[in-house]
Amino acid sequence: MNPGTGFAGRAKQRPPQPRASVSPAGQTPTTLGSTATGSVLYLLPIKLAAPEFALSSSSPHPPSATLSGQHVAVVGAGAAGLVTARELLRAGHQPTVFEQSASVGGVWVYTPNVDDDQSGRAVERAVFSSIYATLRTNLPSDLMAFLDYPFDSRGGGQDHWPRFPHHSCVLTYLQNFCRDFDITPCLRLEHQVLAIEPQVSGWQVSSRQQGQAPVTQHFDAVVVCNGHYSKPRVPALAGIEHFQGLVIHSHNYRKPTAFADQTVVVWGAAASGADISREIASCARQVHWCGAALVAAGAAVGPTATRPNLHRHDDPVGFNPQGELLFADGSRLTDIDVLMFCTGYGYQFPFLAADIVQVTDNWVNPLYQDLVAPAYPSLAFIGLPYLVVPFPLFAMQARWFARWLAGSFSRPSETAMQQAMADHLAALTSARVKMRNYHKLADKQTHYYNQLARQCGEPPLPNWFADLAQSAQQARLADPEHFRDQPLPS
Ligand SMILES: Cc1cc2nc3c(=O)[nH]c(=O)nc-3n(C[C@H](O)[C@H](O)[C@H](O)COP(=O)(O)OP(=O)(O)OC[C@H]3O[C@@H](n4cnc5c(N)ncnc54)[C@H](O)[C@@H]3O)c2cc1C
Repeated sequence: MNPGTGFAGRAKQRPPQPRASVSPAGQTPTTLGSTATGSVLYLLPIKLAAPEFALSSSSPHPPSATLSGQHVAVVGAGAAGLVTARELLRAGHQPTVFEQSASVGGVWVYTPNVDDDQSGRAVERAVFSSIYATLRTNLPSDLMAFLDYPFDSRGGGQDHWPRFPHHSCVLTYLQNFCRDFDITPCLRLEHQVLAIEPQVSGWQVSSRQQGQAPVTQHFDAVVVCNGHYSKPRVPALAGIEHFQGLVIHSHNYRKPTAFADQTVVVWGAAASGADISREIASCARQVHWCGAALVAAGAAVGPTATRPNLHRHDDPVGFNPQGELLFADGSRLTDIDVLMFCTGYGYQFPFLAADIVQVTDNWVNPLYQDLVAPAYPSLAFIGLPYLVVPFPLFAMQARWFARWLAGSFSRPSETAMQQAMADHLAALTSARVKMRNYHKLADKQTHYYNQLARQCGEPPLPNWFADLAQSAQQARLADPEHFRDQPLPS
């Protein structure tokens, strides 16, 4: 499940279904048009602003002299990498998409395999996907879709799919996207990117095809789309060495039957914790679901109404030497078989030197608009923001960067980018946002999307989009167990 749409408030009108025609790869840059119903329908050519570069001469990495037709390395062929390739093609660039696995789709490629250390703390042989067997999306497919490529039969899906589809449907949709936009020739499957190094002009990208020696190639630009739902984040828990049971991160959760008749503690109040604790409660003896947000949200500590063996708790404070799990109110849990961390994931860029970007308490910095490093304007990161509706946001970020590279709109100087970043940081600091939440957009995502759209000459998000996101959010909060099978506005 997506951690949440981040849209709050009341839906004001019944959103129309998106209708779209598919624009093939390499088509002229386009803008969204309207139908008779006023909904966003299809793509029309737009007039782009004249190129205007104002990078300060202090930049160690000035843009390539050739603006269109740039050779661009894309790291990763998940949803972000695929839509980035499409937008680069549309803007006249030449993308090469490196994908370490044998197929496209990223997290949507389910595997029954798990990490060699299921706790996620000392992993040597890692699996990439964090999807479990029964997972269905927690966003309706009309929001999941790239805005101009719906999930129904006119785009990359099937009309009989449920509105909250199974993960296998999302994978099929992405495979169809790849086919329909002619991205396949750009793919280098089973090619892992090992290192990306800046040159006087452009980038040197070292990659290794499975079973082969590493190869180095030159590119004008690089887009990093390596995902951030693969490296488990495991918070410290005092006395965990006294716990003798299984410690597992949700990254390695696949099926509830593995926990039949066991007592399971699930720690994490976000979407994964909510869905997995309910699923496990269908066959476990007892499930103790822990998280400060559960208590802060006003939910009574104790059994849930719908599942008497699913109990809510505050955050635990640690284990005692007897292996009992302790809570701040003095209560304790005994005879625990499994401790499952549903505590999220971390960003990682093992192929990039720390002087390009660094990850500080899960904040990737320095980045202008969570997208480009000011000193390296030919390097972009697509998909960093979270608590968002991901696919449409990826598409807008990708379109923005493809046009940024092509010089299709006016770029700020490096100094102006630094100033914008300083202002943004000051706003986050004064709002007391924790650093690890700096990439959380939530109710700021419409503003973020529309700002990128305005800068690169695209229309804002259609009204139906936020309305439907609000309805979906409300439905999920009202009935977390059954919302996927209940009707939404159409
Ligand atoms: C359990 C779970 C449920 C989710 N549910 C939803 C949902 O309901 N709706 C929704 O919209 N989103 C959901 N998401 C979020 C989902 O991750 C995003 O929607 C999106 O698919 C992420 O795409 P991505 O391309 O950024 O990353 P990924 O899908 O992670 O793809 C990254 C790709 O990069 C490749 N890669 C990484 N490093 C390298 C390297 N060095 N060299 C070459 N290739 C590399 C990987 O192999 C992978 O294919 C969910 C996530 C999880 C974990």
